[in-house]
Amino acid sequence: MSDCIFCKIAAKEIPATIVYEDGDVLVFMDIGPIIKGHALVIPKKHYDPVTQTPDDVLAKLHLVAKRIAQAQMNALGADGVNIMQNNGTAAGQEVPHIHIHVIPRFSDDGHHW
Ligand code: ADP
Repeated sequence: MSDCIFCKIAAKEIPATIVYEDGDVLVFMDIGPIIKGHALVIPKKHYDPVTQTPDDVLAKLHLVAKRIAQAQMNALGADGVNIMQNNGTAAGQEVPHIHIHVIPRFSDDGHHW
C-alpha cells in the first residue's frame, strides 16, 4: 500500500532502526517506546487485520517475536516480555499494517497496564 507507513519502512523509503530482517519479516524499534527496547515485528507485505492475515505469515511473525523476546532477555536483561497485537481503532490500533509489539519488562519498570 503506497500510503502505509510500515510498507514504506519495509521498502526502506523512510528510516527506521532495523534490528532483524529476512525475506518476509522486518523488526524495528518503536519510535515511541512504551519501555526502552520496545520493538515491532511486521510482515514486509501488507496485511491487516489479524483475521485477514494468512496463517503462515502469522506463524512466522510470532516465531520472530519469540526470538526478539529472547534477545531482550539476553541483551537487555529483561525480566519479562509483553507480546501484543492490536486490531482496529476500538482496540487501540493506529497503524493499519499488522504488527506485533514486543516490549521488554523489568521488575522495577513501574509500568502498569
Ligand atoms: P498504538 O499506538 O496504540 O500502540 P498500534 O498498535 O497501531 O497502536 O501501534 C503502532 C506503533 O507504531 C506505535 O507504538 C507507534 O509508536 C509506532 N510507530 C508509528 N510510526 C512509527 C515509525 N515511523 N517508526 C517506528 N515506530 C512507529
